[in-house]
This record gives sequence, C-alpha cells and structure tokens, in this order.
Amino acid sequence: MADRKNVVIVGANFAGLACAMKLSRRYDVTVLDTSPHFEFLPNIHELLSGVKTPDVLRLPRAKLIDRLGHRFVEEEVSGIDAGAGVAITASGRTCPFDACVVAVGGINNTFGLDGVEQFTLPFKSVDDCAAIGRQLGTLVESGRKLSIVIVGGGLEGVEALGEILRRYGRLRNIELHLIETSTQLVPGRPSALGREIERRCRPFPVTFHKGERVESVTRTRVRLASGRALETDLTLWTGGSAPSPLLAGCGLSPGRDAWAPVEPSLQSRFFDNIFVIGDAAALPQPVSKQAYHALDMGSLAAGNIRRLLAGARLKSFRPGPDISLISLGDIDTYLVVGERVFASPALAPGKELIFQANMARLDPPVGFRPAWALHERYWQGIQRLTLPSLWPPSRLANLTDMRRLA
Ligand SMILES: Cc1cc2nc3c(=O)[nH]c(=O)nc-3n(C[C@H](O)[C@H](O)[C@H](O)COP(=O)(O)OP(=O)(O)OC[C@H]3O[C@@H](n4cnc5c(N)ncnc54)[C@H](O)[C@@H]3O)c2cc1C
Repeated sequence: MADRKNVVIVGANFAGLACAMKLSRRYDVTVLDTSPHFEFLPNIHELLSGVKTPDVLRLPRAKLIDRLGHRFVEEEVSGIDAGAGVAITASGRTCPFDACVVAVGGINNTFGLDGVEQFTLPFKSVDDCAAIGRQLGTLVESGRKLSIVIVGGGLEGVEALGEILRRYGRLRNIELHLIETSTQLVPGRPSALGREIERRCRPFPVTFHKGERVESVTRTRVRLASGRALETDLTLWTGGSAPSPLLAGCGLSPGRDAWAPVEPSLQSRFFDNIFVIGDAAALPQPVSKQAYHALDMGSLAAGNIRRLLAGARLKSFRPGPDISLISLGDIDTYLVVGERVFASPALAPGKELIFQANMARLDPPVGFRPAWALHERYWQGIQRLTLPSLWPPSRLANLTDMRRLA
C-alpha cells in the first residue's frame, strides 16, 4: 500500500517495545535496536547470585516484533534527520519516517573519572551482570581474602549488594564496601529506607562509605576525594545513567549532558515529527527513570502518533504513582510508595510476580516455545526465589511481618 505512513522506533526495550505493541499494522513500522534481545533490566542484579540466568531475562526481539506485523532491524542508529524524515544506521541504511519514536534509554555514567572505563564493571545489561556473577564466582573459588567495592548506593548498588550477600554473605573471607556520594543510601527515597538497609547489613562484613566521592580507580585501588583509598579485587560501577550521545547528535537535546526535552505529549520540544520516550525523555514535570513509566510512555506515544498522523489533538502523559520494590537479596524487600516504606520478605515473591507477569505480557505464551519459556521462567522463580524465601519454616514467621518504616 503506497500511502501507508512510515513509523520508525529507535530502541526496543521497555518504552520502544511498548510503543511497537500498540502501533497498528496499518502503518509501516520499522523497529531498530543494537542488540537482538529485549532485556528485563529491573531484575538483572539477580544474575550476581545466580537465582536468575541470562536466558530467562531475555526475549528475542525479531520474533516479538515480527509477530506484531512490524519490521525489526538489528542495527545502531547513528543519526536522525528530522527535516528530511530519515533515521540513518551506522552501516548507512536509511529508514524514512512520517513519525519517529526515540527510546534509547541511557548509557553508563562514568563521570569521566580516571580508570572507571578500564577497571570497573558496569551494571547496565544482562551481559554486564552475568560477567560480574562469573568474576565473583572465580574470585570466591580462589579462597583468598577478598575486597569487593560497589560504587553507588542507589537502587542498583543496594540490589547488587543484596545479591552478593544472598550468595556469599556467610563467607568470612569477603569484605564489602559500598560508596555513596550522598549522606543517605538510596537517595531520593525516604531516609528511613537507607537506615533500615544499613541496620539489616550489620551482621555482615559490609562497610558503608556515605558522603564520599570516588576520584579515580585502578585495578587494585579505589581512591576517594577525601584522600582515603580502598583496596579492591573487584569494583562494580553503579553510578547511574547519562544521556545517549545520539540525543545531542541529532539536535534532540541542548547538549551532551542533557536528556531530550519533551512536551507533555512526549513530542520533542525541537521536532514535531519525533517523540522521545522512556529514560531518554526529560518531561516538563520530571518522573523517575523507571520501567513502568517507560511502558506507559510507549503506549501513550503510539496513541499520539495515530493522533498526529490523523491531524487530531495529542494527549498528555499522566504518570502513575511512583512505586518501587527494592530487594536486599534474601534479607528483606521494601515497597516504597511516595514517602511511605513497607518492609517484608513476603514482598519478594511479589517482585517476582511482577517480573513474570510483564514477561508473559511481552511474550504471550502462544505456541510451544513461548509456553515452554514461560514454564522455565516460572519454575526458576519458584525454585530459586519463592521457595527459599519460605524455607526454613522459621522464615514463615517473618513473612507475615509487614513493617511500616516511614
Ligand atoms: C540494574 C537496574 C535495576 C532497575 N530496577 C528497576 C526497578 O526495580 N523498577 C523499575 O521500574 N525500573 C528499574 N530500572 C530502570 C528501568 O530498567 C529503566 O527505567 C527502563 O529500562 C527504561 O526503559 P527504556 O526503554 O527507556 O530504556 P532501556 O531499557 O535502557 O532501552 C533502551 C534501548 O535502546 C537501545 N539503543 C540505545 N541506543 C541505540 C541506538 N543508537 N540505536 C538503536 N538502539 C539503541 C538499547 O540497546 C536498548 O535496548 C532498573 C534499571 C537497572 C539498570
């Protein structure tokens, strides 16, 4: 059909995939991503302890997108020309569009510090966390005294710490250090949460270095701005995200350090035919960079593309409430709803349920393979996460103990 409108989606994880799922087949939709797999990032920390394996956290993009009736291209987009209406890939392929959706997330934020790229392990993908899990295993097998340093005491850093404690917390030859620039753990969340996490870690060989900034890293040392230095055998970098250079490169953001400003409709402030969604977007009223907001933005962007191409009025993004479930390995799980924090090990199966439900929604179990994959994911969750949280029976008492921390 010659008059089919072209839509290009750049990035096919939470935001981009949610948008593709809601776009009608009456458009000619091309979805591009650098990698072949959708990755469920909120659970990648579980690769450190081995309660999850890489295969259960991934879904094949080509199959998911093909099933939607769209086209998947596994390539990096290196430029977007809004005026000409084309996205250009690193290999030179051009993809014309009437409307484009940019859902490229962020990149590892190293703050340009010496040694971070070279000597620390990033925490941004399934491969990253699987590599950390393997290196931890090899170091532990050596049987020598170890010092593991986690840089960043936000959600990712705390969840990484929890998984290391889940697997290795009983070993006496490992000491763990967690460095956080803020004076509070998990900054941006109620301070009671940080205090509780520190309290629950007291029985373990963990030292929290709050209000400390990393200055440089070598293979064996992490130097702090205060002048102190920590010995390290393995340094994990969970320093947060920075904007993709693609945003500034194609005029979607005012500079390399800026996310892409959007209207409440998620339309770029600079180009009417481009929507920026998910972590890459800077809304007039900022929202936290979370998967559930990215999914909602994807759905709204699809509706707004339909409205834009039909000449109708666009709708504004209305974020749902800020809710997060943060796990500290098998020690405890925290539900944060605005300023309120609840804690209970019983929340761990709840977090697992969210993972299972979202994966099943993205890859509905139609046919043998998806049904088998669902069965595998489900059993891995039951065997490695849910059952251990109910066993030994003494833990059952804790399960009913839902505490309100703040
Ligand atoms: C360790 C960790 C734990 C987290 N925990 C939680 C949690 O508990 N709850 C929660 O809600 N959120 C959590 N998040 C945040 C959540 O994962 C993000 O908010 C979400 O992934 C954002 O989705 P997105 O689609 O905007 O970006 P992403 O998921 O980052 O996807 C961006 C996609 O764009 C692709 N891409 C990038 N550049 C290009 C290019 N030039 N060309 C083509 N493709 C490109 C990438 O390959 C990637 O697939 C966590 C994140 C991490 C890393």
